[in-house]
Amino acid sequence: MGTMTSVANVESFDLDHTKVHAPYIRLAGRKKTPRGDVISKYDLRLLQPNKGAIEPSALHTLEHLLAGYLRDHVNDVVDVSPMGCRTGLYMAVIGEPDEQGVVRAFEAALRDVETHDRPIPGVSELECGNYRDHDLQAARGYARSALEAGLKVQETVLIERGEQG
Ligand SMILES: [Zn+2]
Repeated sequence: MGTMTSVANVESFDLDHTKVHAPYIRLAGRKKTPRGDVISKYDLRLLQPNKGAIEPSALHTLEHLLAGYLRDHVNDVVDVSPMGCRTGLYMAVIGEPDEQGVVRAFEAALRDVETHDRPIPGVSELECGNYRDHDLQAARGYARSALEAGLKVQETVLIERGEQG
């Protein structure tokens, strides 16, 4: 479909970022592997796109904490990684967990972040690529704000590009 040439179609570039309401979880895509397993990717959005951005140090801490806490609440997590736009994170999982379940799991993980009062896991020169760049208090604040705002399931609204695509 379409006439794109050199660049593969990237799901997130088709999302209309002006039509979403953060904080939310959104099924961003599903892929079936050659062996028949399904991998689901979720958009875990904390801030409204283009209205703000999480400071890199806080997002780095959210990455470290959610890497563990999401795995406590979601089975078969493949990866948790921050978005370059710094408004949220992506989570890839094996299987097709239902979206309400992912909302509850993300809420539970954010509550774990909000109350985290121990050292941040994986923070040493051996374990991390920028171990000085963390901000636990700010990370906890973003978790609290998202919980107070209330998470919901966001449907994907595609950008209407017209016939020329
Ligand atoms: Zn790190």
